[in-house]
Amino acid sequence: TTTRTLLAVDGLVVGYAGAPVLDGLTIEVAAGDVVALLGANGAGKTTLLRAVSGLVPLRGGRVVLDAEDLTGLAVEDRARRGLAQVPEGRSVVAELTVEENLQLGALWRIPGRRARRAAVDELYDELEPLARRRQAYGHQLSGGERQMLALARALVSRPRVLLLDEPSLGLAPRVVAQLLGTLREAARRTGLTVLLAEQNVTSALSIADRGIVLGLGEVVADAPAAQLAADPALRHAYLGF
Ligand code: ATP
Repeated sequence: TTTRTLLAVDGLVVGYAGAPVLDGLTIEVAAGDVVALLGANGAGKTTLLRAVSGLVPLRGGRVVLDAEDLTGLAVEDRARRGLAQVPEGRSVVAELTVEENLQLGALWRIPGRRARRAAVDELYDELEPLARRRQAYGHQLSGGERQMLALARALVSRPRVLLLDEPSLGLAPRVVAQLLGTLREAARRTGLTVLLAEQNVTSALSIADRGIVLGLGEVVADAPAAQLAADPALRHAYLGF
């Protein structure tokens, strides 16, 4: 096939105190794929995302982006190479408007006022619901709008890989569908690669190309999203529905 691995974790060993949470985990993500990272509470989804972005140290293994070993690099250096973590919606600045929040996000990454203007305008084209709220203040936004703004701020730097940790947390089902639909559409338009950790299995699989199920720090299933969603035994055993 022509699919190219963009992000790989290879033999990852990560732990806090005591036994490792991830013990030799290996995953490959193809360029342009949206991958749902699933598994019960405590399976290690958050730990995996933090290991990829550099927020937790590795005891063993490697993180590789486009054939470059990132293992020794700090969070900012990984970000510079195109890894972006979407923070929680709470990270939105309440006293600034949507527009100002986005400009602030662009300020660190994009030199030149005109280039920033163009980048933000391009985002508005992709994230229609946000465009309509551009003059609203952070504190006036709903939970879903805040989450979308957090997503937009990560997208403004045009990352190659987007890491999301439960963006649906605390949102109503309709809002989750809109947020994930927007993410899917942004990925399709820009060729973005996405690793999406979600408890909300049905929603995540509905927009993902592929699902990876973690159980106690191991990969217990790795298959096309549609196949995972349609497999009753697997759903029952690992996904709880
Ligand atoms: P959740 O959906 O609850 O976040 P998860 O799949 O993301 O679950 P992790 O948060 O990665 O799982 O947690 C995996 C294991 O690591 C759990 O047993 C958890 O208690 C432990 N753990 C997570 N963070 C820390 C930490 N900072 N210090 C110590 N142990 C931790």
